[in-house]
Amino acid sequence: MVGVAAGIPHLTDVNKQLIHDAGIKWLRMGGLGLDAEKFLKNENQPAGFFELKEKITALQKEGFNIIGITPKPTSMPKIAGTPGSPTYFDHYRRICAFLGKEYQGLIDYWQVANELDIWIFRDTLTLDQSIDFLKAGIVGLKESGPQLKVGINITLFPSLPGEVDGNTDLHEGVYIAKAIYRDSGLDLDYAGFDSYPGTWRRGGPESWNDYLDAFHELTGKPVLIQEFGYASEGEVMTEEEDKSGIYPCAAKKWRFAWRGGHTREIQAEFIDESFRIFSQKPYVIGAIYFRWDDPETCWQCGESDCPAETAWGLVDRNGNPKPSYYSLQSSVKKYFPNTIQ
Ligand SMILES: [Zn+2]
Repeated sequence: MVGVAAGIPHLTDVNKQLIHDAGIKWLRMGGLGLDAEKFLKNENQPAGFFELKEKITALQKEGFNIIGITPKPTSMPKIAGTPGSPTYFDHYRRICAFLGKEYQGLIDYWQVANELDIWIFRDTLTLDQSIDFLKAGIVGLKESGPQLKVGINITLFPSLPGEVDGNTDLHEGVYIAKAIYRDSGLDLDYAGFDSYPGTWRRGGPESWNDYLDAFHELTGKPVLIQEFGYASEGEVMTEEEDKSGIYPCAAKKWRFAWRGGHTREIQAEFIDESFRIFSQKPYVIGAIYFRWDDPETCWQCGESDCPAETAWGLVDRNGNPKPSYYSLQSSVKKYFPNTIQ
C-alpha cells in the first residue's frame, strides 16, 4: 500500500492525475463529513456527508483506495456526554459503527482516531480514557463489518522523554500500544506507526530500521506506516535555542535535521532512502506519505511563514510538483513495483 494523506474534498482532476502518475493508490483522510451531533440525535446527515461519499465512490471507480480515520476526541459533540464517561464511550462506539456501515464496500481500511499518545490529539482525555476511546472505536467498526481492517496509530515510539514534544516519563506511546495490541479481546489487523525522524525527532531514514523492528515486536501485527515525511523548509535551531526548549512554531525553526538541513533536495533524498528501508521489511504492509500539498498556513500556530506544518508536501502551495514528488514516484517504481501494476 503506497499512499498519501490528502484532503479528498479539495482534490482537483489535475491533482488526481499527478497522484495516479506517482504510483499512489491509497488516500488517507479523516473527517468524512460526519455530523456526529446529528447522528446522536437520530437526525439525517447533512448534504456534505453524502457529497463526500459520492466523491469517494468516484475515486474508487478511478482506482483509488481509501483509509478512513474515525473522529478525534476534539470532534466529539457535547451531546456525546462527559468525556471519559461510559455513555461517552458508547456513543463513540456507535459513531464508528455508523461510519463503518455507511462506507461498507467503499472504505476497507480504518484508523481509529489519530495519535492519541500525543497530548494535542487527546484533548481532555487521560491516557487510560484514551485507551477506552480507542477500544470503543475498534469494537464499533468491527461490529459494522468483521471484514474491515482496523488499527490505531502511535507516534511516541520509541519512548524518548524530553526529545519529542509530549513524550514524558509516562511513555505514552508504549503505554497505549501495549494496552491495545496486547488485549486479546480486541480484533486488530495492523499496527499504525507515525514517525518523523529528522524533523520532529532526532535521526533520519536509518532510524526506521530499529524503530520498525521494535514496533513490530511490541505489537505483533503487520505494520502500516500511517504517516512519514520530511519538511522541505525551515532553519535549524542554534544550540542555545534548542536547549531553551522553545517550540518549533515559536522559533519558526526545527529542532532536528537530517544531512544538515531542510531543503527540497534533502526531502527528496529522505523519501527514496525511507522507501528503500521499508522494502526490506516483510512485515511492513504499506507507507502513507504525509502529506500531498503544502498548505498556506501552519495548522498549529496559524502563521504562513512557520515551517512546522507548511512544507511536508509533494507539491508546493501552487500545486507544482517538488523534487519530493519525483523522488516518491521513482522510489515506488524501484522498491514497490508490484503496487503499480
Ligand atoms: Zn507553526
